Amino acid sequence: MSNHILCKFCGNLRPRTNTGICDSCMIDYEHIKDYVLKHPDSILMEISNETKISVTRIMSFVRGGHFILVEGAFTSID
Ligand SMILES: [Zn+2]
Repeated sequence: MSNHILCKFCGNLRPRTNTGICDSCMIDYEHIKDYVLKHPDSILMEISNETKISVTRIMSFVRGGHFILVEGAFTSID
């Protein structure tokens, strides 16, 4: 029995959370979401530059289904 999970974004072993996302990924996720909500239709590079979060990391949130890319621009799911 384990109280740990592999974070579905960074792949690090983390204490189990309800979301399946570790704390540091959650912080980045909120950061990106905040930016996207304030700046709809932002492009990936812009979000990366402004949030200081790498493109690779942002893309892992897209693959995880937390954001969608529409013609290169970001949209928050919720
Ligand atoms: Zn993580």
